[in-house]
Amino acid sequence: MRKYKPSEIQETYPIDTPCTKMMYKSESEARAAILFLKDVKGITGLATYYCAKCGYYHLTRDFS
Ligand SMILES: [Zn+2]
Repeated sequence: MRKYKPSEIQETYPIDTPCTKMMYKSESEARAAILFLKDVKGITGLATYYCAKCGYYHLTRDFS
């Protein structure tokens, strides 16, 4: 069983990151954000990708 400490959950947006984009700890979290943006703001065509610079996931426009 995996355990999550509250302190880890609050570290989704570290301040010492090379990236200024919104970051997500996991791909599932990023996908949840995509669904949220689609439902609430009507933004479509977004995709997730793993960023090797900060080790988090970002959202990007999917032009494919
Ligand atoms: Zn990054």
